[in-house]
Amino acid sequence: MTVRTVSGPTQRVLVVGAGLGGLSAALRLAATGREVTVVEREDVPGGRAGVWRCDGYTFDTGPTVLTMPELIEEALHCVGERMEDWLTLKSLDPLYRARFHDGSQLDVRADPEAMTTEISRVCGSREADGYRRFHDFISRLYRYQINDFIDRNIDSPFGMLTPNLARLVAAGGFRRLSNKIASFLHDPRTQKVFSFQAMYAGVSPFKALALYAVISYMDTVNGVYFPVGGMQAVPEAMAAAAEKHGVRFRYSTEVTKVELTGDRATAVITDRGERLPADVVVLNPDLPVAYRDLLGRTPRSVRRLNYSPSCFVVLAGSRAGYEGLAHHNIQFGGAWRSTFQELLEEGRLMQDPSFLVTTPTHTDPSLAPPGKHTYYVLFPAPNLRANLDWNHLRTSYRDEVMSVLERNGYTGFGSSVEVEQVTTPLDWAQRGMAVGTPFAAAHTMWQTGPFRPGNLWGENVVFAGSGTRPGVGVPMVLISGRLAAERITGQPTL
Ligand SMILES: Cc1cc2nc3c(=O)[nH]c(=O)nc-3n(C[C@H](O)[C@H](O)[C@H](O)COP(=O)(O)OP(=O)(O)OC[C@H]3O[C@@H](n4cnc5c(N)ncnc54)[C@H](O)[C@@H]3O)c2cc1C
Repeated sequence: MTVRTVSGPTQRVLVVGAGLGGLSAALRLAATGREVTVVEREDVPGGRAGVWRCDGYTFDTGPTVLTMPELIEEALHCVGERMEDWLTLKSLDPLYRARFHDGSQLDVRADPEAMTTEISRVCGSREADGYRRFHDFISRLYRYQINDFIDRNIDSPFGMLTPNLARLVAAGGFRRLSNKIASFLHDPRTQKVFSFQAMYAGVSPFKALALYAVISYMDTVNGVYFPVGGMQAVPEAMAAAAEKHGVRFRYSTEVTKVELTGDRATAVITDRGERLPADVVVLNPDLPVAYRDLLGRTPRSVRRLNYSPSCFVVLAGSRAGYEGLAHHNIQFGGAWRSTFQELLEEGRLMQDPSFLVTTPTHTDPSLAPPGKHTYYVLFPAPNLRANLDWNHLRTSYRDEVMSVLERNGYTGFGSSVEVEQVTTPLDWAQRGMAVGTPFAAAHTMWQTGPFRPGNLWGENVVFAGSGTRPGVGVPMVLISGRLAAERITGQPTL
């Protein structure tokens, strides 16, 4: 099937933003002999996959759960590079340690036999049988969705009419996620472990379609990895490989405008007053912000988007270590349905929170001074469409987070902190993310696939990143970069 492409010459490509989406596009375009320049506001690549270094501690500021590293491999392979020459990835086992409010815990393992044994240990053999069937279900969902609906440019809803759509319907992919999961798993603890991933997509498992269970396939079946040096090692590797293959980078330079003649981009203007001419412009900043600030227009469909919830993140370098922690630890509160209601419908902070505590030093002790630890604590929070005063909550909610941690076994957490950084939804907005969420438009049915904002505008402007197709998260934005490149080359770029 042919895809729509930009019109006119395509030799000089200007990529705005060195996020993972922009880098993925830049590598593909360099591989086809284009002259590629990446203009990035910050002084390092990575965007949301950022880094904070302080007093000998190194923290990831954004993504921590790395799945589907084969997509990084593919991007590097385009320019003839091997991932193992650029990155050292450690496979995590367990992928997560799930800790429940009744004190029980369950280790989520990628190996289906190991996972079945663990579920049998914690929840009994009947539940383990249910897991086997669930595993088969999400594996099929993945096979049906990846090639037809995730990994390609679809120009019209009719493009979705493939045999795999019928298979998805027959498998129950269009039923409610929570009901479908309940048909396999009966213990509320396993139901939580295999449905919380809907939050990654900004939807409640009680409203989401079952086909979103594909997200739990990507981590619970495909595995979770950690790059030595932290997640920042990924964009650093991609940018260095791109540079080696001729991509020019201009850091600490903000693009203030795309110069247009009608619907044709002719150049970008920077905050240094330069005019950088281009045949094609790739926009990697958050899509609604790129439309508003760089193109100076916002289509109605973009104005009407619904957004995912946001998050409140505390990064802490600490003297305290805790027995029994894995790399990723998810603490599930007793409340469940009401938690999604609070975050997604009522715009309230969680009353009985569920949250993530990641301890990167568990896997890579070099990220802290000897004998010390790094913690990344993420509490989901409403985005800025809710009426919350984050100037005030910055301190009071931080104190609340510390008390919740203390109550959940992180004894002395607050008093052991040596360095700390707090990020609120207001900070995400100030870093250029629409409505203060780093998780973009929610993946509701009508904001997914061909219904998500498209990646081609006018004659020669292409979007890459989480605001466009296929969507949010490291794997999706790496794919978005490839789809963006294909809008320019007209050819599959691997
Ligand atoms: C706290 C947090 C936790 C997350 N957890 C996970 C996770 O565990 N797993 C996962 O898969 N995903 C996770 N994500 C989501 C994932 O990080 C994002 O979906 C992805 O990194 C977004 O990449 P992107 O290329 O779309 O955009 P960005 O990373 O935002 O890149 C855009 C780039 O454009 C630059 N830019 C913006 N405006 C301009 C301008 N005017 N001029 C020049 N440059 C500009 C920015 O500085 C930035 O570098 C998380 C995100 C956050 C923030």
